Amino acid sequence: MAQSPPVESRIPALPTFSLGTAAGLPPRFPVDRMSPSETTPQATAVIPWIGVARAGLEARMTADGLSATHAQTLFRLLHRELMPDPLASPDALPPLRRWLEARGEGGRRGVDVASEIASADGLTRKYLLRLSDGQTIETVLMGFTGRHTACVSTQAGCAMGCVFCATGQMGFVRHLTAGEIVAQVHHVQSALRAAGQRDLRNLVLMGMGEPLNNYDAVMTALEILCDTCGVNLGPSRVTISTVGVVPGIRRMARERRPYPLAVSLHGSTDEERSALIPAGRRWPLTELLDACRDYTESTGHLIFVEWTLIAGRNDTEEHATRLGALLRGIPSHVNLIPLNPTQAFEGTATARDAAQTFQRVLREAGIPSTLRQRRGIDVAAGCGQLRSQTTTS
Ligand code: SAH
Ligand code: SF4
Repeated sequence: MAQSPPVESRIPALPTFSLGTAAGLPPRFPVDRMSPSETTPQATAVIPWIGVARAGLEARMTADGLSATHAQTLFRLLHRELMPDPLASPDALPPLRRWLEARGEGGRRGVDVASEIASADGLTRKYLLRLSDGQTIETVLMGFTGRHTACVSTQAGCAMGCVFCATGQMGFVRHLTAGEIVAQVHHVQSALRAAGQRDLRNLVLMGMGEPLNNYDAVMTALEILCDTCGVNLGPSRVTISTVGVVPGIRRMARERRPYPLAVSLHGSTDEERSALIPAGRRWPLTELLDACRDYTESTGHLIFVEWTLIAGRNDTEEHATRLGALLRGIPSHVNLIPLNPTQAFEGTATARDAAQTFQRVLREAGIPSTLRQRRGIDVAAGCGQLRSQTTTS
């Protein structure tokens, strides 16, 4: 990897903007109380317009007597042109200007870049972004040949407490608003454009937080990001990763959401899984896999199964055999992620030959798998290494 061309190292630092109005801080949620409806954030007093879908903007403006064209203009300026302040554009005609000014926000949005740091692999860049209430979150941009993937956060911290995850180790702070999720993508998209790179192609919701505990904000953000008049991400290129929040998976199935779903399994029995992921006690494997089956049948998508390989804990041939049996009949693809180091977990990553044996056993059971490359470990930008902290570049 060290010899790879330094694609992202050409991405310059960006000017900073301030992000709309902060949401109030909800209380900490104990794991056993969580469901998507219980954990949806409170409405904010003033809504930053980047967090409102095009249809929502049109409805608000037409209700105020403006033509829907102004809503389309605002949406384009924000999401296609990525203008930090649409009032600076001559395309914002007087009625739109007056409407924005009367609401105090002016449509402004963005994030402060507290710091950014590039991995020595030359292909991974991590941004520590500061929200308007001072809370910080991390966003990662990864370059592959000719395409880029952003990994965004959906919460500051996480309440699920998975023992090997740095975000889980820091605890839950608050949900991100739809605008704060969108702003992360705007940030990396602007950085790519400033560096003369192609627009973002893939998005993974695998940063800080559990997306399905912040269901409404996540789905609104994805609707905005996949809008063809804006960032225009293809829905099939947006992957939502969940620790296995069954009501959220069932709701995605019911609503026939078009996004690929990754489910973090990591254990082949309830006991083994719950020792790593407390949520395993709330939603046992039979219930979880039933919801996954429902999802594949309702949406036609296969399930990506995430499996963090931890030496001696979940990486033997027996584990692979049990995993193969669990997934029988569920269209799935297993992503094997060698454990990334975090402060409060002592486990070590599975060695390459053991990981390949694990893959062979899965293959014999008819389950395809990919052994993920480790990326950005030197700057703690790998899976499960993200947390709120000030880093220096
Ligand atoms: N909350 C969601 C998405 C964020 S975590 C979820 O849990 O799926 C993204 C992925 O990183 C998950 O599959 C998670 O299990 C994995 N992960 C967490 N900590 C890790 C670590 N230390 N090493 C490797 N993968 C890790
Ligand atoms: Fe939360 Fe996912 Fe980390 Fe678990 S692995 S603590 S669900 S972010």
